[in-house]
Amino acid sequence: MSSAILTPVDERHQREQRLRVEEARRRIFSEITPIRGVERIALRSALERVLAQDVLSPVNVPGHTNSAVDGYALAGADLPARDEREYRVVGTAWAGRPFTGVVQSGECARIMTGAPLPAGTDTVIMQEHVRAHGDSVHIGTGHEPGRNVRAAGEDLARGDVALSAGKRLTPADLGLLASIGMAEVGVYRPLRVAFFSTGDELRSLGEPLGAGEIYDSNRYTLYGMLKRLNAEIIDLGVIRDQRAAVRAAFAEASTIADAVITSGGVSVGDADYVKETVNQLGRVSFWQIAMKPGRPLAFGHIGDAAFFGLPGNPVAVMVTFYQFVQPALRHMAGEQNVLESHKLFAHCATRFKKLPGRTEFQRAIMENVDGKLVVRSTGMQGSGILRSMSRANCFVVLPEEAETVEPGALVEIQPFFGLV
Ligand code: AMP
Ligand code: MG
Repeated sequence: MSSAILTPVDERHQREQRLRVEEARRRIFSEITPIRGVERIALRSALERVLAQDVLSPVNVPGHTNSAVDGYALAGADLPARDEREYRVVGTAWAGRPFTGVVQSGECARIMTGAPLPAGTDTVIMQEHVRAHGDSVHIGTGHEPGRNVRAAGEDLARGDVALSAGKRLTPADLGLLASIGMAEVGVYRPLRVAFFSTGDELRSLGEPLGAGEIYDSNRYTLYGMLKRLNAEIIDLGVIRDQRAAVRAAFAEASTIADAVITSGGVSVGDADYVKETVNQLGRVSFWQIAMKPGRPLAFGHIGDAAFFGLPGNPVAVMVTFYQFVQPALRHMAGEQNVLESHKLFAHCATRFKKLPGRTEFQRAIMENVDGKLVVRSTGMQGSGILRSMSRANCFVVLPEEAETVEPGALVEIQPFFGLV
């Protein structure tokens, strides 16, 4: 990377040019549009896909008022006010095999969990709370009318919105959709994301390393992070630092993908052709972001494809992906409320070194110590040290104006939750 000697005035000017993290995120969101293609697919295939329409429940869930326990069903008004009362057991209600008789005063029905409540009953007494003998049971006081009953439609009433459009479907959602009889759902088509690495020093796996050469690791972290987003991945390999090669790669990527991601070549080095090329084929906004790691970030469009030019350093790639690209791709994939965040805080167990002036995303390990959430640094934080990411389970987010944080202080954390 070539760098001129800066005067203090230049430095202040440069600092003022730097975008704040939230501002960069906001600008990206204002320039991307969600995809529109929708397909109907079988329920199981819909895991981790994004729902394209609200799903209204065509039925009540549960469909009938039923027992929450194994026990005896009777009318709540028929419970004893004092002492004990004897009830005749007039039949049995099984899950899937209802009791069709009517339960009268002084009577009850044996009932299993999930069985519909027989006519004449509105209350179930747990079997552990009765004395059963032969064809009758004794029930004492202290039982509330209406207990141990799950009302029809209490989970979902017919016509209720079971799930809203824009939800990425979880295992719980698949179960919910199954419970209302949905064998198929309408989801957005998967987002197609193409990526390539740039750099003459990069070798692909399986190739021998020459002097000064390194293995391309960014295509592997990007692959993993995109896989977690359930994107359709197009890996275009390593592209040499040559104008024609970079141009050909962009030309291809932008016609086959919704988003194109590159790593490396976005700084101000002599072999950095990425911005120049995107500006020829489309439009690029290039930002110095007031963050560490990952200061340079290029964003723009080539035709209909969104473009994200990430830095080359492996940790910077992951941090910028997590902070900008991941939310943007989720929004493009049709997800709603992507930027809604639930801030979490933890107590520092180690010192986190920092200078004011930019937001830092330090790699850290959070754990529970005596019921308290504490967080410690993974150690060396260089933007090329991938081990800091691999050992971490969260980012510690230190705001722009913050200085070094001492042990005991409360800091914001972003747990990875398997997303990175
Ligand atoms: P650049 O932004 O192209 O100057 O790259 C910055 C640093 O990241 C250099 O040390 C590169 O060698 C390194 N780098 C760039 N791309 C990759 C990659 N795909 N895998 C591993 N390291 C990379
Ligand atoms: Mg490079």
